[in-house]
Amino acid sequence: MSVQNTNAETAAETLGPVADISENLLSWIWDTLAANIPGDLHLPVLLSTVVIAIGIYLLRGGHGSKGADGRERRVGLLAFLLPADIYTHPSARVDLWLWIFERLLRPFWAVALFTTVGVTCEQAVINALQAVAGSGPALQSNLAWMLLYSLITLLCYDFVFYVIHYTMHKVPWLWALHKVHHSAEVLTPLTRSREHVLAGPIWATGSAVSYGVVGGLFGYLFEHSISQATLLNIGVFSLLFGFNGSFRHYHVQFHYPRWLSLWLHSPVMHHTHHSYLEHHWNSNMAAVTSIWDRMFGTLYIPEKDEYTPWGLGPETQQQYRSFWQNTTGPFRDWWQLLRADSAQSQANTDQDR
Ligand SMILES: [Zn+2]
Ligand SMILES: [Zn+2]
Repeated sequence: MSVQNTNAETAAETLGPVADISENLLSWIWDTLAANIPGDLHLPVLLSTVVIAIGIYLLRGGHGSKGADGRERRVGLLAFLLPADIYTHPSARVDLWLWIFERLLRPFWAVALFTTVGVTCEQAVINALQAVAGSGPALQSNLAWMLLYSLITLLCYDFVFYVIHYTMHKVPWLWALHKVHHSAEVLTPLTRSREHVLAGPIWATGSAVSYGVVGGLFGYLFEHSISQATLLNIGVFSLLFGFNGSFRHYHVQFHYPRWLSLWLHSPVMHHTHHSYLEHHWNSNMAAVTSIWDRMFGTLYIPEKDEYTPWGLGPETQQQYRSFWQNTTGPFRDWWQLLRADSAQSQANTDQDR
């Protein structure tokens, strides 16, 4: 073996582990992203979104979709389904980067939250009921009970979602985080997952609590012998989640009849939630039903072709355009809030003197 060969082998060995690590890292990134594609981006839901959009296109003769400016316009089928001004918009690119960043960090906390918070809540509810009312009635499960369990889970999830969402809009410290979702200047199905990386655990805690509480109640009544109806996964509920996920962040206006909008959010109702016009602020904050928005006075059913310019509005949008701005924005806002707070308390102290 020549000296040259030995050197070449050593060089290959030296490079080996680095190449190995980067290869492993790449496949981990890829696997993590593939395993964390949100349910509303799965093919059947996307396909049904497209089919319904084509239906709206045909019914309305090319009307019914909005451009990047949030105004309705008449266009050809391709531009109706996949408008260039929306999908080449910098905001759509930021959607993608924020999604990748959030999904890569998600495995570190998502499982932990579900297995600890959800299980703890469930057990706490069972213990509390047993302490108050003795051991459970050990009811027999049947399809009607399973449907009721699914429905109550949906309502409870929707309520917790509403409370968290409302709080995020009203409390400046949390609005600093939620702003990232609202800084989207165009709506794409990925906008649903557009969140600051620190907002993910808050939403996930809410889901874990709602599932845990209802799970505890039904676990007590049925002594753990009940499971959620499969309808939750494949039927009506899944469709509701699907439409309210991908379609509510799609630029095509999908209205329900008014009577139905009083019970369920139609996808277009989320267009007003993302609008920066003042009369649209803080509207339609639940995930699926209209019940909580109606109860707390935040329901807004838009007119046909109502103008909904998306984003934070001309004043603040400049600060929330890039991935970097959206990732660091909340920290800058918190710093400003902190300074404003300390200036306020200083002023109060001066006044007291
Ligand atoms: Zn919001
Ligand atoms: Zn949204």
